[in-house]
Amino acid sequence: MIRIEEQPWRAMVAHAQASYPNECCGAMIGTAGNGEKVVRVALALENAFAGEQRQRYELRPQDLLAADRQARARGMDLIGIYHSHPDCGAYFSETDLKNSCPWYSFVVLSVEQGRFDHAASFLPNPEQTAAESEPLICPKS
Ligand SMILES: [Zn+2]
Repeated sequence: MIRIEEQPWRAMVAHAQASYPNECCGAMIGTAGNGEKVVRVALALENAFAGEQRQRYELRPQDLLAADRQARARGMDLIGIYHSHPDCGAYFSETDLKNSCPWYSFVVLSVEQGRFDHAASFLPNPEQTAAESEPLICPKS
């Protein structure tokens, strides 16, 4: 289960809406324990995909490393990655699976016509052949 606190949740929704009609992406920093992950900080990262960003995002490895360092500096961990799906449901695509890492939670925010619609979280398996959905608790937006 993953729970997102009010402040990072607002930041993620605002980032997803501001990036519309393109996909946004970012890092989720927080704590994990007792089977529950808590996101306390959302870090907006640049979508580095060189092509059409309406259907694709790409994270720079150095940005992820910097996010990881920032998490540690705050005594927390990098626990997941979020990105948006403009005018598309919050599912985990084939591309998302291919670009995933099994130790992170992947939160997808669906943005319809520039407004946040719904979100879901996914846990890819180590082989990156499937992702199971992870219960997600987030504030009402
Ligand atoms: Zn996606």
